[in-house]
Amino acid sequence: MNTYFYRDNSGKEIGPFDLDTLAKLRLAGMLNDNTLVRAENTTEWKSLREFLPSLAAAPQTTQSSKKSANWTWAGLFIAVVIILAASHFNNSSQKPDQTLSSDAKTIEQLKIDSERDYQKARAEAGALRNQPSTKVSDIEAENACINNLRQIDAAINEWALENGKSNGALPTMADIKGYIKLTATGEVPSCPAGGIYTLHPVGSNPQVSCSIPGHALP
Ligand SMILES: [Zn+2]
Repeated sequence: MNTYFYRDNSGKEIGPFDLDTLAKLRLAGMLNDNTLVRAENTTEWKSLREFLPSLAAAPQTTQSSKKSANWTWAGLFIAVVIILAASHFNNSSQKPDQTLSSDAKTIEQLKIDSERDYQKARAEAGALRNQPSTKVSDIEAENACINNLRQIDAAINEWALENGKSNGALPTMADIKGYIKLTATGEVPSCPAGGIYTLHPVGSNPQVSCSIPGHALP
């Protein structure tokens, strides 16, 4: 069996090796195509390329293509692992009852949530209905109150006229009862918003006022 020597960077003769070993050293990057090699029985140095024609045919790519082949295998392996893992996940999300029941639970929870939202919305709508729109009721109360004030003012004038009261005379509610249309319960109409009416002396402006701001004769 032929053996070979190669010459290292310092010019030293290293060996002997068989061709197979040289090929491995070349693959490992310790030798290159131009490394000088001689057969044991000669003194003629030739480049390694000439002893390893198969390697020389694809000098650098041999290693790199092998490397990329390794990477391809690694990539394939990772892809297979990912596919297996994914299919396992798919199976586990479709098969086991645990997952199904948690899905069912989620749907149930959604139902409860939406029912709760519905009830809440209903309650809010009801509250809005029961507590009539503030704007409208304020205006209605104000108008009704001002109508009351107008009638009371007229009643004071009527009372003063009928009873010979001059300016400065102060009437009471009882005094004017006979000069105004009373409520069903026999009272002088009161402020629908709960305001308190105050009577003022005859001839003052106004002769009657409500305690709620804005409830006033124009
Ligand atoms: Zn009022």
